[in-house]
Amino acid sequence: MPELPDVETLVRTLRRRLVGGRIHSTRILTPGTVRSPSAAQFIRQLRRRRVNAVDRRGKYLLIQLDGGLLLLVHLRMTGDMEVVTPRAPVHRHTRLILRFDRGGASGGGGQELRFTDQRRFGHVDLLPAAAVEQFTPLVRMGIDPLSRGFSLEAFRLLLQGRRGALKPLLLRQDVVAGIGNLYADEILYQARLHPGRRVESLRPAEVRRLHEAIREVLRRATASLSRYGRPVGELLDARDVGGRCPRCGRPLQVSRLGGRATYFCPSCQRPPRDLAEGGAPTRREG
Ligand SMILES: [Zn+2]
Repeated sequence: MPELPDVETLVRTLRRRLVGGRIHSTRILTPGTVRSPSAAQFIRQLRRRRVNAVDRRGKYLLIQLDGGLLLLVHLRMTGDMEVVTPRAPVHRHTRLILRFDRGGASGGGGQELRFTDQRRFGHVDLLPAAAVEQFTPLVRMGIDPLSRGFSLEAFRLLLQGRRGALKPLLLRQDVVAGIGNLYADEILYQARLHPGRRVESLRPAEVRRLHEAIREVLRRATASLSRYGRPVGELLDARDVGGRCPRCGRPLQVSRLGGRATYFCPSCQRPPRDLAEGGAPTRREG
């Protein structure tokens, strides 16, 4: 599933390839992909629009067009976008094709933006840019962890008065937008906090560590994805190669938390006391 660093990487690619380009024509291969407006309206309204900017809010892609229009894309489970030459063979999971007159900054001849989606949960809306502030999923969305607004102070305020386990909280899109299962585990590992640790028990130094881990993990993953096409993460890599903690060498543990498989090091991320009785016994170092 695309997580925030994947979407951010895609935004940077699309920005580079599409801004300045003008849409020549649109083909909808799978009608359900376009949620609004109607297919005919969608095709007509997109005609001759120029791409002014490409942005992101949480995991939504925002493609700003001239004429005050906004193309809003959510990739969901298996969605992806690619910019290719019109001659490239159309994939069987391609749902939507926007043909461009010519590239943006990259220049060149015509190119196509193609939306592919194997499982078809992804969707596209075209709306007046002004309506975006009333678009319910965006209104409900929490703070973007890669934005300037995500300061330590803002994070502290967000946590104030909340209760419950940390991992499910990190996954809540209406609190901090865009953190998925993979990076939630990596963030908690970097912050040396147990996934089942209760939010209300965090000390100020731990809140600071968590805040820093969120920013660092997502930033590093985005940088690595943009450069090498793959994410990095200490825990992420260890999971792949054999499941030992890169720091202390102990076997990683897997448990289910909030319905999701959760990896952590039982030694570096000590279980909180209130979990010890029900789950694994608290281990001591040495
Ligand atoms: Zn460890």
